[in-house]
Amino acid sequence: MNEDTPRTDGGTERADGEPSEDVALDPWGSASVGDYADLFAEFGIEAFDDVADDVVDPHYLMRRGVIFGHREYDVVAEAMANDEPFAALSGFMPTGDPHIGHKLVFDELIWHQRRGGDVFGLIADLEAHSARGMSWDEIDEHARSYLLSLLALGFDPEEGELYRQSDNRAVQDLGFELGSKANFSEFEAIYGFDGETNISHMQSVVTQTADILYPQLVDEPKPTVIPVGPDQDPHVRLTRDLATRMRYFKVTEAFASFELDDEERTLVRAAYDALAGGDDPASGDEAGDSDVRCEDAAAWLADYEPPEVDAEAVDLEEAKASALDKLRAGGREPLRPRVRFLDRNATDEAFEALIGAIAGEKRVFEGHVDAFGMTREAAESLAREVEIDHDGFGFRQPSSIYHRFMTGLTGGKMSSSIPASHISLLDDPEDGYDKVRSATTGGRDTAEKQRELGGEADECPVYELYAYLLAGDDDGLATEVYSECVNGERLCGGCKEQAAELMREFLEEHQEKRAEAEELLEDLDIDLDSDRRGTGGEH
Ligand code: SF4
Repeated sequence: MNEDTPRTDGGTERADGEPSEDVALDPWGSASVGDYADLFAEFGIEAFDDVADDVVDPHYLMRRGVIFGHREYDVVAEAMANDEPFAALSGFMPTGDPHIGHKLVFDELIWHQRRGGDVFGLIADLEAHSARGMSWDEIDEHARSYLLSLLALGFDPEEGELYRQSDNRAVQDLGFELGSKANFSEFEAIYGFDGETNISHMQSVVTQTADILYPQLVDEPKPTVIPVGPDQDPHVRLTRDLATRMRYFKVTEAFASFELDDEERTLVRAAYDALAGGDDPASGDEAGDSDVRCEDAAAWLADYEPPEVDAEAVDLEEAKASALDKLRAGGREPLRPRVRFLDRNATDEAFEALIGAIAGEKRVFEGHVDAFGMTREAAESLAREVEIDHDGFGFRQPSSIYHRFMTGLTGGKMSSSIPASHISLLDDPEDGYDKVRSATTGGRDTAEKQRELGGEADECPVYELYAYLLAGDDDGLATEVYSECVNGERLCGGCKEQAAELMREFLEEHQEKRAEAEELLEDLDIDLDSDRRGTGGEH
């Protein structure tokens, strides 16, 4: 990004360079993040900028940096670009009224739906009951309200699916299966659960992992994106792990009987290529006619200088040492590229079926089978096919995208418990107008100073309203507000008046559409009068 172009980034880019607060991602804690960049290093969330170019005609929340991070969104972007199947799913805890923060996620779901995805929206009622102690009556009422807003904003229930966790038997069955691959110590480490945590709360976590994989259950495994705030990342990470743990087979690439990690494999491949002289195992020729032995590769590798790849150079030195150990131990065993299917959870039948389905040369061992002359990609899809044919799920790891949290209108966090800090989608349009008029700004003390120094749009909740919501798809407006502000051409009074009027219009229109959506909601098969009994968990 060019330093000189003002980035309409939702006003939350830290410009002060101060050390940030400790980062913690707690799905049930207070949602605030000091520095979004820390999430990259700390948790392995990737910068959205890295995939932005793969997205055809990106959403304005992507263009403005509001969606700042992702996990493996590239596979979804690719499916979208190639007209291949993909899905999106997110969930909402019905603990209060939907507000403008939820609208970000509603919009993200709707956008993916219009791009041809199978899109799911769910009401996390089991979570609200067990983790927040909400009564079923309150839950019913809020659930209805979330669904109305989602429909009013354009979700097409004919194309997509809306459900309540408590009503979805397939999700609960899937949760039960997934739960057998997770244990309490892990929940302790991820969520800080302890001996006081109620059991239903834990069950709601398992339910959420099932929600996240549900789109792949409905039809077939496919790239799936979960649009959420970064506080939900622990759930995404856990689900990505569980998806992998459920798989029948693990596919790796090997050169001999031993396993290699990615770095070691790069080095052994270099040795093999140098010594075997461009034998291509996937070309259809009988692979590995060359008589390279492990010990030959060890001799070659010993003299090899791995190329310096930034900070990874150190790792490669380590990888070289361990690869050498393995090759030397291999002695006169021939070195031949192969894909390996490791049996993780397969039934005997499935393992036999896999062996039968491998075309070409193969060698069967206890617990794994090696295939020569097959690409890794082909092996991955064969493994998935056999798994699905034998009652497995064949899940892909779900992807995610993360949006920034909005700043509260009164400064600090936007919080549902402080009415003046947020705007509910049910607020009277006049109240919405008033809240914006009295919002904190990034303006200077006097108009004079403002003209001289410019306002601090990056610190301004009102600017955020433009970028996240009021400017809609109109980048021109967002950029105009930003640059007029920082150039000192815009004063806060007028700026807030304009924003307040847009907010009033938005709320009026949204509420009309909510009224229209009532009928649509009635026609859907969602029980909003659940008649359940119970008291819920601690909160
Ligand atoms: Fe915020 Fe607008 Fe004032 Fe700039 S002019 S600080 S964007 S209210």
